[in-house]
Amino acid sequence: MPPATARSYGWRVHLRYDPETERFREELRSWLSDNQPPPEEVRADPWLSSGHITGWARAWQQRLFDSGWLVPGWPPELGGRNATPIQQLVYFEEMACIPLMRSCNLQGLTIIAPSIRDYGSEQQKRRYLVPTLRGEISWCLGMSEPGAGSDLASLSTRASLEGDLFVVNGQKVWTSGAAHAGLCFCFVRTDPDAPKHKGISVLIIDMKSPGISVRPLPELVDKDRADFSEVYFENVEVPSENLVGVLNHGWSITTGSLAHERGMLWTSQVARIEQKIGELIALGGETGPSGERRGDDPRFRDRVAELYVESQALKYMGYRGFAKVARGKSSPEHSVMKLLGSELEQKLCLIALEAQGPQALDVAFARHAFDESEGAPPWARQYLYSFSNTIAGGTSEIQRNIIAQRVLGLPRS
Ligand SMILES: Cc1cc2nc3c(=O)[nH]c(=O)nc-3n(C[C@H](O)[C@H](O)[C@H](O)COP(=O)(O)OP(=O)(O)OC[C@H]3O[C@@H](n4cnc5c(N)ncnc54)[C@H](O)[C@@H]3O)c2cc1C
Repeated sequence: MPPATARSYGWRVHLRYDPETERFREELRSWLSDNQPPPEEVRADPWLSSGHITGWARAWQQRLFDSGWLVPGWPPELGGRNATPIQQLVYFEEMACIPLMRSCNLQGLTIIAPSIRDYGSEQQKRRYLVPTLRGEISWCLGMSEPGAGSDLASLSTRASLEGDLFVVNGQKVWTSGAAHAGLCFCFVRTDPDAPKHKGISVLIIDMKSPGISVRPLPELVDKDRADFSEVYFENVEVPSENLVGVLNHGWSITTGSLAHERGMLWTSQVARIEQKIGELIALGGETGPSGERRGDDPRFRDRVAELYVESQALKYMGYRGFAKVARGKSSPEHSVMKLLGSELEQKLCLIALEAQGPQALDVAFARHAFDESEGAPPWARQYLYSFSNTIAGGTSEIQRNIIAQRVLGLPRS
């Protein structure tokens, strides 16, 4: 007997949104087409790092906030419109298709603001939430250290409580935007004698405090752009009111903060990949140095088709995971999406590079990698940059461990 399928049961699956959701999408599209900053304004004031909110970027973030389009799932008093989970999904799909990010300080917007909303004191919420959402203050995220990356709970930057001050000593590394950020959302060890997950706290640290030094790390992709820094703390005094949440219970914020980051990654990743597949197809229509059309190479065509199939599998797996989350369940699809999405994007860039051949290098360094106002950056730069997504927010190896243990139930060793 042939296996039962949806068709043999007479079922039809309609993968489309209801009219109300489509109206939401149209309203957003029309707002975006009227409100994005003009490319010449973006070009005149380039974005230097993730802690640097330029003039146009602040105005753009404020327009989004004031119109309820910055964080649509949040309540109106915090710049949202109480959007449903499905509307938020549509929102992230649409936002992935425009050439600008919602904020030049994504850590502040997507990790730190939700963490303060969930764990901060009333005073901290009043002082930081709206200014962060409106791009008036920028943040860096002090988690990783030389001895604590994947194993974040090993962090050793020490904060000891002396009267009503914490005194902080230690070092962070890979701190995006630290050279420009006003504040650091910093994970510190407050009880060195407790088990490693139990003695961690979170402090809000003013980056201008005496005793902080920031050493930018040059990048492979663009030597003029140093987004990462090492940050050193030497007897830095932090008022005790800057403690976020409960003393020694910072690990729950760690998992909360990272969940915000993962949520951000997976919803927009597939839409971005689909857009890049479109760019790859356009590349196939271009003529190579010896006059042949790149798309005439059957190997190129096969690889693009394979990519498309993989991207659609990823998309529908994402929808399935999203449906679980929307029903309040946990979703192992997060880790699978993070792993496959970041590696698919890398493969895509490599296919483009190979199709361009040596020509890829001609254009690679002609234009600033992050000047998106002139269209997508060259493929060679995109390929180099694609490595970062396989590391940030949990490396591919760590995602494989999570999938093996939590999804497949395999033993730890
Ligand atoms: C673009 C980008 C932005 C970042 N921004 C920030 C930021 O703003 N703030 C911040 O604090 N950090 C930031 N990071 C750092 C990031 O969080 C860490 O790089 C990441 O957590 C990995 O830690 P690590 O670099 O110390 O590598 P390690 O943890 O030392 O890992 C080294 C290698 O060993 C592998 N490995 C480690 N443990 C295991 C294991 N148990 N099983 C198998 N393999 C393992 C890893 O996969 C990796 O390949 C950023 C990183 C990138 C790429």
